[in-house]
Amino acid sequence: MVLYAEAMSMPSIWVFGDQLNRGIGALAEAQPATHRVLFIESAAKIGSRRWHVQRAHFIVASMRKFAAELRAEGFQVDYRFAPTMREGVEAHNNEFNPIEIVATEPNSFSSRQMLAGLGIRTVASNQFLCHPDDYRAFMGTRKSIKMEDFYRWQRKRLDVLMDGDEPIGGRWNFDEENRQPPPKTGHDRWPDPQRYELDQVDRDVLEAVSANCWGVPPIGQWATTRDGARERLTYFVDHLLPMFGEHEDAMLNTNWHLAHSLLSPYLNNGLLLPGEVVAAAHAAFNEGKVPLNSAEGFIRQVIGWREYIWNCYWQWMPEYAGMNALDANRNLPPMFTNASKTSMSCMKSVLEGTYERSYSHHIERLMVLGNFSLIAGINPQQLTSWMWNSYVDAAEWVMVPNVVGMSQYADGGMLATKPYASGGAYIDRMSNHCKGCVYDRKKRTGEDACPFTVLYWDFFLRHQERFVKNPRVARQVRAAQQLQDGDELQQVAAVMLKKLDQGKL
Ligand code: FAD
Ligand code: SF4
Repeated sequence: MVLYAEAMSMPSIWVFGDQLNRGIGALAEAQPATHRVLFIESAAKIGSRRWHVQRAHFIVASMRKFAAELRAEGFQVDYRFAPTMREGVEAHNNEFNPIEIVATEPNSFSSRQMLAGLGIRTVASNQFLCHPDDYRAFMGTRKSIKMEDFYRWQRKRLDVLMDGDEPIGGRWNFDEENRQPPPKTGHDRWPDPQRYELDQVDRDVLEAVSANCWGVPPIGQWATTRDGARERLTYFVDHLLPMFGEHEDAMLNTNWHLAHSLLSPYLNNGLLLPGEVVAAAHAAFNEGKVPLNSAEGFIRQVIGWREYIWNCYWQWMPEYAGMNALDANRNLPPMFTNASKTSMSCMKSVLEGTYERSYSHHIERLMVLGNFSLIAGINPQQLTSWMWNSYVDAAEWVMVPNVVGMSQYADGGMLATKPYASGGAYIDRMSNHCKGCVYDRKKRTGEDACPFTVLYWDFFLRHQERFVKNPRVARQVRAAQQLQDGDELQQVAAVMLKKLDQGKL
C-alpha cells in the first residue's frame, strides 16, 4: 500500500493521448508504488480544430479509459481537465509537487518543443520499431534513403519474412500481385468490421466534445481500449489478412473497407504496438493461414511505409510542413465540407464516406482526394489541415509527409520520385465509381468531360517545364504536349476550376 507522504514525493509520468500503452517508454518500468501518472485533457487542444466527431471521441475516450485501467492497476492517476497543457502541468505541480515530471518522447515536433520549454525530461520512445537515431545511423552520409532500401534493412534487422539473409520466397515485394482491379462480383466477401456497445464513458465524452465537431457520431466501430484493439487485430488476422494482398489498391462504392486492416488508429494512439501487429501477421503466415503476397503486402505497410514516413517527418521537420513546390494556391473547394457540392461520383463517394466513418483507405486518400487536389492545384497546407481534422487516425507525423510529400509533391520530390497524378482511366480501372457518373471518363472536352481526365492533362501542361526533366513522367508530359486539342482542353480546364470553386463541379 502506498502511503500518502510517499506518494507526494513520487515522480510523475505525463502520458500523452497518443501513448496509451503500458509498454511505451516511461510507463514500461513504472509501478504504482514508484510513480504517479498524469494525463491532461486540454480544452485548447480539443477546441483547436473542427474535428470529425468520431476522431475527437476516439482520442478522448481512449485516454479516459486507459487512465481508468491504470487506476485499476493501483496507480495514482491525476486526470486533469485544463484550459491548456501548460496550465495542466502547473496545476499538477501545485497540487502534487512531484520530484520531477518525466515523459516519453512525444510524437510531434511541437510537443517536444513544449516539453523542452517546460524543462521536462523525456525518455526514448519505443513506440516505433525504428527510432530516428537508428535511422540516422543507417543513413550515414546519404542525404536521403529510398523506402525500398529502408524496408529491406528493416526486414533484415527485425528478421521478418527472412530465410537467412534472403527474403522468404526469393522476392522482397509482391506489389505486382497486389494491384488487382476490384473483383466483378462478390463485393461482400470481406466481413464487416467489429463493433462494441458505447458505454457511459463514451456518452460523457460525446457530450464534452461534440459541440465543435462535424460528421456522423460514433457507432462503436473504432475500439477505445487495448482489449478492443487487440480483438480487432485478431479478427483482421483471422478473417481479412488472407485476402489482404490482391485488392489492396481497389476501390468500391459497395464496400468501403475491403481487406484493409483498419488498425491505423490503434497503432497511432498506442493501443497497439507495431511489433505485436507484425508478430501476429507473421505467426499466421508461419502457420500457413496467410499467403506470402498478403503477409508481405501488409508487413511492408507497417515496417516499411509507416516507419519510413515517421523517420522522414523527423528528418525534415519543421520546414517540411510549409513546403509548396508547385505553388498550389487554390482554396479547398466547397465539396470537401459538403459532398453535395459535386457530381463527380468518385469524389462524392469518398467524401461521403469520410463524413460517415472518419476514414478512407489509402488509395482513396492518395488516388482520389490527393490526386484530385494535386491536379486541381489545391493548397497542400489546406488539404493537410482538412485531412487532419477528418481522419480518426490523423497525426501530424503521418499526415504531413503523406500529404505534402507523397500525395501533393509539394516537397519537390524529396519523398516521392514522381507526382501521383492520374486521370479518369486509372479510377475506372481500379474502382466501380465511373459507371453511372454524370461525367465520361474518356472525354476531355465537352460538357460531360471527366474532371480527372481534363485536369490530369492540364496539370502536365501547366508543369511541363519541371516534369519533362523527370524520367518517371517525361512520357506523360510529351503526350500532353502532343495533344491535338490541347488549347481547347486548357479552356475546358479553366471553366472546370471556376465551377469547382463555386461548388458546381
Ligand atoms: P492498411 O491498408 O490495412 O495498412 C496497414 C497499416 O500500414 C496501416 O494501418 C498504417 O499504419 C500503415 N500504413 C500504410 N501506408 C502508410 C503510409 N503511407 N503512411 C503511414 N502508414 C502507413 N495514415 C495514418 O495513419 N494517418 C493519417 O493521417 C494518414 N493520412 C494520409 C493521407 C494521405 C494523403 C495518404 C496518401 C495516406 C495517409 N495515411 C495516413 C496512410 C494510409 O492511407 C493509412 O495509414 C491507411 O489508409 C490506414 O488504413 P488501414 O489501417 O486500413 O491500412
Ligand atoms: Fe470520377 Fe471521372 Fe469516373 Fe466520374 S467519370 S467517377 S469524375 S473518374
